Amino acid sequence: MTRQRLRETVSRMNAEVCDQCGKCPSACPVTARIEGFNPRQIIAKVSLGKEEELMKSGVIWTCTSCLKCRERCPEEISPYDVILELRREAISEGYEHPASYDEAEKAVTETGVVQQPQPVRTRSRDRKDRAALGLPPAQKPKDQAKYTQAIKELKEATD
Ligand code: SF4
Ligand code: SF4
Repeated sequence: MTRQRLRETVSRMNAEVCDQCGKCPSACPVTARIEGFNPRQIIAKVSLGKEEELMKSGVIWTCTSCLKCRERCPEEISPYDVILELRREAISEGYEHPASYDEAEKAVTETGVVQQPQPVRTRSRDRKDRAALGLPPAQKPKDQAKYTQAIKELKEATD
C-alpha cells in the first residue's frame, strides 16, 4: 500500500521539521480528556512511517476537528490534516471505524444530505421547522439517480 495521499500531505507541510515543541497537545481539547491521544505523537509516528499503529488503535477517531493544533503550530504543520488523511486511509483499507461515517456516506449518496432538516427548539421551548421560520424547503438533487451515480464515480476515483 503506497498511502500516497498521506505521504504527500506529510511532505507538503514538512512534518519532519516538527521539533516536538508540544504546542499542539497543550491546545488540544481531546488530549486533555482522553488518554493516548496526542497530535504531537501522531505527527512523530507518521513521520516515522508508523501510521499502521495509529489506524489499528482507533485513536484517530477521537479528534473533534477544532483546528487548534493547526492554529498553534509554529512550523505551520497541521496534525488535523494528517488525521483526516489517516481516517481516509483507514476506511479505504478496511480498518475498524465508527459506524456513523458509513451512515453519513450512505445518506449523502442516497439523499444529497447527511441528515434531513430537523425542527429546532426556540428560547421559548417551541419547536419550529423551516417553514415556521420562513425558510424555503431544503433543496434536493434535481435528478437523484444522476446525482447518486456521480457521487459513486467520485468515490471510486478518489479511493
Ligand atoms: S483538530 Fe483534533 S488534534 Fe487538532 S487540536 Fe483539535 S481535537 Fe486536537
Ligand atoms: S505544534 Fe507543530 S512543531 Fe509543535 S509538536 Fe505540534 S506539530 Fe510539532
